[in-house]
Amino acid sequence: MQEPKDAEARRAVEPVICYPNETLPVPDLELYAKARAGAEKIGEVRVAPREAGAFRVGAGQFFRISSVEGPQVGDLNLWNAHDLSERFYSGKSRALHGTHLTEGERMWSSFPYLRPMATITADTLGWYGIDGFGGSVHDVIGTRCDPYTGNLLAGSQYHHCCHSNLTRALADELGVSLEEAEPHVHDVLNVFMCTGFTRDTGQYFMKASPVRPGDYLEFFAEIDLLGALSACPGGDCSAEHSSDTAACHPLLVEVFAPEAGALEGWESPTVNGYDRSHGR
Ligand SMILES: [Zn+2]
Repeated sequence: MQEPKDAEARRAVEPVICYPNETLPVPDLELYAKARAGAEKIGEVRVAPREAGAFRVGAGQFFRISSVEGPQVGDLNLWNAHDLSERFYSGKSRALHGTHLTEGERMWSSFPYLRPMATITADTLGWYGIDGFGGSVHDVIGTRCDPYTGNLLAGSQYHHCCHSNLTRALADELGVSLEEAEPHVHDVLNVFMCTGFTRDTGQYFMKASPVRPGDYLEFFAEIDLLGALSACPGGDCSAEHSSDTAACHPLLVEVFAPEAGALEGWESPTVNGYDRSHGR
């Protein structure tokens, strides 16, 4: 393939941020912090390795995902607790905030709702930043490990990928069949996972997560949420996933409720204001 004469000049064009986010509604992190300070723990779910667990968090409550026994990555799905068609939109959250999420950033919901479902209020791995390989933590670039890709690439029949773990957990939580639950499983927030794209080939890479027991990611629930978290069979994702070979550890989800009146002035966000006439 012949390069055009002005190839270098074309490559040298400065990038433009697709979605300047200065006009995004800003969460009142100070109010959230005050509410969190007086909050009381009201429940927990311990997610076993290579399994997933479901949990519910009311609007105005907090949930924390913690590493408890060893480095472990978690795949998180969120739904509106009253309407599963509103669910976390990984791609749009990426477009609005970047490839990895941290404190002050939000998990946005699917069309036509497009509103914040949860706001990250604490991230003990916030110090990590972006490493020399272009890797960072808590990505919204990966999908979730799944048995279909494993079958495509290796002809395998592995049943404890995050996709299957989330499907079983949702089916059990709702009392529905796997067939009914599976279409609701969606691309995740990769909690504690350290990932990026290689500069030379642009391929998705993972590396050993910097997470250690005691680290956590905490969220404020902007709407009533149903969540499911899978303790990925990749463990810390230092080598491989989609098999039983990696060392895996549990994850802990805890839910906290603020004192009555602690969120004075806060309102659960309304759904997106676009009129949905689509030009007709
Ligand atoms: Zn996984």
